Amino acid sequence: MKILVLNSGSSSIKFQLFDMNASQVLASGMVEQIGESTSQAKLTTHAKEDFSASKPIATHEEALETMNALFAQSGLLNSLSELDAIGHRVVHGGELFSTPTLIDQSVLEGIRGLSALAPLHNPAHVVGIETAIKQSKGVPQVAVFDTAFHRTLPQHAYMYALPYELYESLHVRRYGFHGTSHHFVSKSAAAHLNIPYENFNAISLHLGNGTSATAIQGGKSVDTSMGISPLEGLIMGTRSGDLDPAILFYLHREKGYTIAELDTLLNKQSGLKGICGNNDMREIGLMIDKGDEKATLAFEMFAYRIKKYVGAYSAVLGRVDALIFTGGIGENDSRLRTKVCEGLGNLGISIDTNTNDQRCKVITPIHTQNAPVATLVVPTNEELEIAQQTQAVLVK
Ligand code: ADP
Repeated sequence: MKILVLNSGSSSIKFQLFDMNASQVLASGMVEQIGESTSQAKLTTHAKEDFSASKPIATHEEALETMNALFAQSGLLNSLSELDAIGHRVVHGGELFSTPTLIDQSVLEGIRGLSALAPLHNPAHVVGIETAIKQSKGVPQVAVFDTAFHRTLPQHAYMYALPYELYESLHVRRYGFHGTSHHFVSKSAAAHLNIPYENFNAISLHLGNGTSATAIQGGKSVDTSMGISPLEGLIMGTRSGDLDPAILFYLHREKGYTIAELDTLLNKQSGLKGICGNNDMREIGLMIDKGDEKATLAFEMFAYRIKKYVGAYSAVLGRVDALIFTGGIGENDSRLRTKVCEGLGNLGISIDTNTNDQRCKVITPIHTQNAPVATLVVPTNEELEIAQQTQAVLVK
């Protein structure tokens, strides 16, 4: 069974082709800078063979045609109609979608209708899905939502303390994101620890360019740090995470910031980048080693915010079986893991500096021998999870 996973953005499409029978990635790649003269497409096969194209790619339609041509060159696929299914990553499923869903016209309209909640993502997903439907001729398409795993949040956790009417009329509430990743790593962690998933309690930390924490109780998400958008919660590469909303009124009054400028400020100019001028944790590590004070401050703020959420979610869960680190930073940055876990002995969290001091390509326990809470580094694989969920929808 061959499943293609597509992640369509406004100017790029990421793709991965899976052979589900062999549990293998056959190829992965990306079409970038769609709509510009500098567009590029690249495909790398499982055997590390590269195929690429550099030419202006004006539309998503041309992007998928280019991807298709690279697949044909690689010999892996002659046409998209040979696929068994296409799984689409969709960022916002709102309150409409709580499970992976076979796409028909009404589902497509549902995703489009949620564009006001995810203006940067959902419209681009719709274009990607429509193009894939057109070019793959009859191949089933499945939408897998970043928000779906968090649909089990209790109301007291997902409501904001705003007038109730805003929830009813405009669906203002916490949705949470990175659900595919939190679900994947928590299932993997439970299996690793031999705990049935429905009894498993964990705090999952997805630390990449975007960062989020999730409290999982009995295999269900019961709280998560991102909110109505992926801006709330932990400090991120360029996003502020939590702050006092009054700062926005103040900036508007004092400096005349517009809504669009505030949006850019909070989403693109804040977080690690806002504090030290860099949003790449590897480079921040090098800056810290050279004694850069702002890099050190950014790192400490980043770790401190995560630690506060670990404390809060320990209180929410009562019993914590595992603390999970994942994402580019969570999987690779041992210094950050040490900083987050420092002084959490009272919560049962204690990590072994020797086992922690490595980059982890497979599930790696890093807790001390008798620690009540298992601390695990679990590499995430959102594309594989989307492929598996797509397959599950087909065989239902
Ligand atoms: P995305 O959220 O875009 O999928 P990733 O999960 O790839 O991002 O994470 C990107 C982050 O991971 C960047 O801040 C990057 O610097 C960091 N990172 C990747 N490798 C390392 C490493 N070896 N040490 C520290 N940080 C790393």
